[in-house]
Amino acid sequence: MRPKIAAGNWKMNGTASALGELDTLSGMLPDTPPQVIICPPAPLLYRACEKPGPIAIGAQDCHTARSGAHTGDISAEMVADTGATHVIVGHSERRADHGETDSDINAKTSSAWQAGLVPILCIGETEADREAGRTLDVIGAQLASSLPDAVRPGNTVIAYEPIWAIGTGKVPTLDQIIEVHDFLRAQLIARFGPDTGDLIPLLYGGSVKPDNAATIFQAENVDGALVGGASLSASDFAPIIAALAQS
Ligand code: PEP
Repeated sequence: MRPKIAAGNWKMNGTASALGELDTLSGMLPDTPPQVIICPPAPLLYRACEKPGPIAIGAQDCHTARSGAHTGDISAEMVADTGATHVIVGHSERRADHGETDSDINAKTSSAWQAGLVPILCIGETEADREAGRTLDVIGAQLASSLPDAVRPGNTVIAYEPIWAIGTGKVPTLDQIIEVHDFLRAQLIARFGPDTGDLIPLLYGGSVKPDNAATIFQAENVDGALVGGASLSASDFAPIIAALAQS
């Protein structure tokens, strides 16, 4: 049985005053909530981890190396030292803004495992890929190259995030989401066998909002969501979490 997961990516938004949203959100969770993870900017990790309550904390990136001459970067070990349990790797904004490749993301995933973190590994196609009918080829190749062989149930989450849907208000149809998630599930089972491939959670990400979440969560192989904008405020994120709990 796969866990249901609602992960929020605050991106480069929020100073200390934003941490009150964690308290508000904790008070709005359903009686039997899915796993809820908030990934605030790195300077807020320690303070976010000090908050009592059911919300797990993740970072938005980590370096491939454990330590060294990498000004401005943070290692997976440093992330784990804050008390965080998760780290996003391979977000399309990291790939675009910092030139990260599948091979970098593969190494980041391994470094996250070595630090005891659960990576939330992001893959997704561009609008041009989709229009050219290349979606499954592109995400299949990203999954194959960026996910190391040592994946195990419980140590990794995969997030399918079509780049054209992130922050745009555009959302794939339910059939398109089902097609991709069923494809990813089949790829995972083919490579790792059902005992592992069937147990890795697959999240959908890209303009998930309170008014479309319940529809998206109808897909059998959608185990939750990675949410950007709507995770910044508890009043937007809570109904998405409630929709997931009811799915
Ligand atoms: C994201 O940043 O991963 C994301 C899905 O953003 P949004 O929900 O704002 O589209």
